[in-house]
Amino acid sequence: MALDLGGTNVRLALVREGHLLHTARLATQAQDGPAALLERLAAAVNDLAAWGRAEGSPPAGLGVASPGVIDRGRGVVRVSPNLPGWRDMPLAQELSQATSLAVALENDANLYALGEYLYGAGQGAGGMACLTLGTGVGGGLILEGRLVTGALGSGGEIGHTLVEPDGRACGCGALGCLEAYASATGLMGMLAEAQGRTSACQPGGGVEGLARAARAGDTLAAELFARAGVALGRAIANLVALTGLDLVVIGGGVAPAWPLMEPACRQEMAARLCIVDPGAVRVVPAQMGEQAPLLGAAAWARQRLAVD
Ligand SMILES: [Zn+2]
Repeated sequence: MALDLGGTNVRLALVREGHLLHTARLATQAQDGPAALLERLAAAVNDLAAWGRAEGSPPAGLGVASPGVIDRGRGVVRVSPNLPGWRDMPLAQELSQATSLAVALENDANLYALGEYLYGAGQGAGGMACLTLGTGVGGGLILEGRLVTGALGSGGEIGHTLVEPDGRACGCGALGCLEAYASATGLMGMLAEAQGRTSACQPGGGVEGLARAARAGDTLAAELFARAGVALGRAIANLVALTGLDLVVIGGGVAPAWPLMEPACRQEMAARLCIVDPGAVRVVPAQMGEQAPLLGAAAWARQRLAVD
């Protein structure tokens, strides 16, 4: 069984062999406070578990995809920008006590990557990185068939790798991270900084509006997507040199604008990657959408808890 805890929506699914048997959704409403949200999460898990038992598919464990910095050993969400008031939240323990299920907790971008690797665009890849371009840039890395989590817990945080020394400020506190260019926040920030330049871009139109303007031939909008593409190309070139991976999967809410970033990304990869053939690295859109973190969470629970 899987739970994807988003800043806006929570999605749950009973999963069997890579298929979602039954799903549920509720509004996160994090503003009501951690205690109220925990109670609603537990109630939703118990409802779905009861459905599964009645249908002859009782859940054996629960995989939880959470945004933020995770202490997976202790099952704790240390801090999450999308969940106000959540600090050192023992989510695995709380949910386990309230539902009597064993719980495995992991970062949502990592589980998105695992879902794509096992069931989507990543199937058969030798090594894979997954980038979820949304409000921020989530990252997940799978090498030799294993999700890279890392001794410090920061495994796969590709969004916070350096692409521009002393560049734009990132939400993490550093300068020049990939996230500061290739996320909705980064693109909108660059648009605000370019104000005064002649452009058809509407400041309130979000990334979709910016993409429409770029497709209609707006020079500034096209330039901003090209900057995001260059940033992606640098990050991917570094990843390929470091890990030897041969596949990058692009997902998330900003992914529909990927074709606007792809030419600059490819050009930058070709300029930066001299030790291997840049053409051997595939960069493709994600296939599983919202299902990816749920499928990844269920698979993670199986791996970590050794349950079906
Ligand atoms: Zn950062």
